[in-house]
Amino acid sequence: MYVANWKMNGSLPKIETWLKGIGKSLDKSLQKECVFCPPSCYLFQAAEIIKNEKLKILLGAQDIDPNYKKPLTGGINASMMKELGCDYVIIGHSERRQVFKEKNTLLIDKLKSASEQGLKIIFCIGESLEQKQANQTFSIIQKQLEIINKVDLKEFIIAYEPIWAIGSGQIAQPSYITDIHNKITNLFKGSSKGTFQGVSYGGSVDSSTSKKILALKDVAGLLIGSASLQYQEFSNIVLSKSSIKD
Ligand code: PEP
Repeated sequence: MYVANWKMNGSLPKIETWLKGIGKSLDKSLQKECVFCPPSCYLFQAAEIIKNEKLKILLGAQDIDPNYKKPLTGGINASMMKELGCDYVIIGHSERRQVFKEKNTLLIDKLKSASEQGLKIIFCIGESLEQKQANQTFSIIQKQLEIINKVDLKEFIIAYEPIWAIGSGQIAQPSYITDIHNKITNLFKGSSKGTFQGVSYGGSVDSSTSKKILALKDVAGLLIGSASLQYQEFSNIVLSKSSIKD
């Protein structure tokens, strides 16, 4: 899958231009492989455009709140996202872990809520630069993945996103990506844990680097931030896969 994570970007006109542009630049079979994650305030509009334009692109939420049975001002839960037309939700993004101090107990509650409502999960993991330099990458990732076994998940994607690569313009080395993706894939291969949809890479991917990354073994898809904001660039990333020779 190709996940367009718009973070806190967008406006009503930009969402419309982007979706209509995707409708023109990607055929329906490729649209089905894309998940558009705008800010939640634009999901309703995005769902309307997708329906009216007969697009096949999927919708994803950038976050949910757990469905606590208590008042939660500002809360938006998984069933609301489902009602708005979301198929996917991003959980555990490093920006939320860092800025909002989201810890495992909260992430477990979010995973449970999402799963109960039938949302597919894009679970983000990744190491900081300090952890990479201390050769701790895989142990950190293993720790972050432990909570997956605590939840009865249905379909999920693991998004490996080195924190130092996000928004930095610096993608991880191909050999590094291959090694980490292979290790993560082996953790879930043959396990009975829901439907594992593979490991996607995220971190400064654009159309000049996507082909090289998508050609790597055990790279099942991409999570794209800034390069997803323009539909031409996002489409070029998606189209780069078809130019890879076996
Ligand atoms: C992200 O935030 O998940 C991300 C991959 O962003 P960028 O592509 O801008 O590095």
